[in-house]
Amino acid sequence: MRRTILLGLACALAAAAVVLPATHGSGAASPTADAITVYATRTGACYHVEGCPSLQHSAIPLSLAEAAARGLRPCQRCSPPLLGENEPRVPPAAPEPERLLPATLVRIIDGDTIRVLVQGREEAVRLIGVDTPEITRGKNEPFGEAAKEFLAAMLANRRLALEPGVEERDRYGRLLAYLWTQGEQDGAPVFANAQLLRWGYAQLLTIPPNVKYVERFRSAQAAARREALNLWRP
Ligand SMILES: [Zn+2]
Repeated sequence: MRRTILLGLACALAAAAVVLPATHGSGAASPTADAITVYATRTGACYHVEGCPSLQHSAIPLSLAEAAARGLRPCQRCSPPLLGENEPRVPPAAPEPERLLPATLVRIIDGDTIRVLVQGREEAVRLIGVDTPEITRGKNEPFGEAAKEFLAAMLANRRLALEPGVEERDRYGRLLAYLWTQGEQDGAPVFANAQLLRWGYAQLLTIPPNVKYVERFRSAQAAARREALNLWRP
């Protein structure tokens, strides 16, 4: 019941650029989610870094792991840290810089589809390797809106880059891509596709030949299942 109420509340969108904290997706020695402190309010659906304007009335400290387990999403105003994706045995993946296409977000359609401006054109982009619950064409599957809001929080105030798949388009003409975001300040890459899996907002969907990061995706999904996050709640 509490979860339903929390997910129904949306966080405020911030117009201003923010200073991004270091992310934990690619660093070799980043602290675990148990060791990172974030802050929640009594009733909000998001978690924050210390000093976020959303924490005016209450600021309850908790670990990042606990925030994820409670179904809290990252705030769009203060861009708090995300969960690490890297599990043992999985080498940290990095995009090939020469294949990255800078993109500007136009609109978020749902958890795995966005519209962007890229190479002077507006394009629909389907994120590779992930499948989020449907919320378009009259459907409203559980966690669909939450997945969309999670993606919005990850992309807010950040630069975006697309890494196209080996197969570049699907049968609907949408671009198939890996989506990387960059901090305005520290430039640390955040891998949006993998984060959707890591937080339990998406299920793995592998369609060859676009399999470059499948190992990383599998391990992110396994971690979300182990922690029973969102879609994987009992
Ligand atoms: Zn915040």
